Amino acid sequence: MNNNHTGWIETDTIAAIATSIGEAGISIVRMSGPEAFSIADLIFEPGNHRPYSDHDNRRLRYGWITDGDEILDEVLVSYMRAPHTYTTEDVVEINAHGGSIAAHRILSLLLKKGVRLAERGEFTKRAFLNGRLDLSQAEAIHDIIDAQTDLQQAQAMKQLSGSVTNQMHSLKEKMLSLLSDVEYSINFMEDSMEDLPIEPMQEACSGIIEEIHSLLLQSNRGRLIREGILTVIAGRPNVGKSSLLNSLLAADRAIVTDIPGTTRDAIEESYNLDGVPLRLIDTAGIRETEDIVERFGVDRSHQYLQEADLVLILIDGSQAPSQEDFQVIEEAKEKPCLVLLNKEDLGISSEAIRFQNQVSEQFPNFSWIQLSVQNKKGIERLKKKISQMIFGEDEITAQDVTISNIRQLHLLEKTEQSLESAMNGFRTSVPLDGIEVDLRDAYRFLAEITGESIEEDVLDRIFQNFCVGK
Ligand code: GDP
Repeated sequence: MNNNHTGWIETDTIAAIATSIGEAGISIVRMSGPEAFSIADLIFEPGNHRPYSDHDNRRLRYGWITDGDEILDEVLVSYMRAPHTYTTEDVVEINAHGGSIAAHRILSLLLKKGVRLAERGEFTKRAFLNGRLDLSQAEAIHDIIDAQTDLQQAQAMKQLSGSVTNQMHSLKEKMLSLLSDVEYSINFMEDSMEDLPIEPMQEACSGIIEEIHSLLLQSNRGRLIREGILTVIAGRPNVGKSSLLNSLLAADRAIVTDIPGTTRDAIEESYNLDGVPLRLIDTAGIRETEDIVERFGVDRSHQYLQEADLVLILIDGSQAPSQEDFQVIEEAKEKPCLVLLNKEDLGISSEAIRFQNQVSEQFPNFSWIQLSVQNKKGIERLKKKISQMIFGEDEITAQDVTISNIRQLHLLEKTEQSLESAMNGFRTSVPLDGIEVDLRDAYRFLAEITGESIEEDVLDRIFQNFCVGK
């Protein structure tokens, strides 16, 4: 099962602007491919007037980009000789003046000289196709660029350094050894009908399943760090949902009013809680209504509740809770829930306390906090509680090996399913060649995680998510 990408490797020379467009000190035009050096020579006039020599490899050279007699920009250029480069091809990077004009003119000039404009992610795709990175590492580069919190960036860096690669390598080795035992037994069975040594194979298979299972558990945490925790703020109208959202974000994002039902649709905001991104959803009041626009919002909030990773249920603690409050609780009961008795400043009613006792009996897993959103009392306690609920008491770190992207997780789940099916085969004495099919499937899914075997269109889809110039 060898790397089968060699047929797809492109051999033309590509270029793109690698920095973001806008006001900045420098812009970098990046070029990669077999003609990179010779084309750079056509447009770069070094300040010392000496042609490129090996001594210049990976050093910055000062000079000018010229188009005939015209000087386009004063630049620093680095020539990087294959194979120790980002793409493993010859790479030239031109540090031009910032703003968009200089870099665009240089890029146009390169295109005029026969270079092709790079597609999204094409530099990284080449690094992958040329074997410098595996797919999990290439995806990590995308995640590093995309990271919104320190923790997300740290997690992606770990993946880039090969944490997933190594883990997959070790799993694949174990799979191969199991497969070869199964194949040996299949051949052996042809000559002799004696009892086959099934047990060790079964044990090996179950060991691999266990490893994948714990990786999947860890990875759920990784997924939360990468994608954010969908936190739904629910509760009947006027209990203080929008006020809570505003108070967390410290900005007047949602409209706060005294009229029930004014938050018509759900509002999503992202909030960085000690490095963990929360995707906060302020739902429209969950209640029965005749108003069509509001109905739409209410439907949406039901949907959000189904998808939530965490639900914050607000109750006006100064009043007697109603049936509506209980309905919200009923609907969220399957989720990790934190119930907030709000408006503590007005005094928590005895009915609210009784309500808490009753509900706690029925749903002992719920956590409760009394607070006053308006007076910002209890907000810090709330934040601490949320982070404990998501990650337990331990500190949140990016130390664990996690598989954080959906594509990889999905493949790992498929691997686990195929192995479970093989286990089932062992248990019910299915002929070994039937079990071998499941094991081969499992191996193939694992190999797709690192991109060892993957369809070209899947690959294109992955790299299309990258930015141009990366
Ligand atoms: P929503 O409909 O649940 O989004 O509720 P809002 O956030 O719009 O708040 C409804 C009303 O309750 C507003 O007048 C808020 O100022 C008020 N309110 C929110 N939190 C508190 C609180 O802790 N104490 C008091 N006294 N009033 C609050």
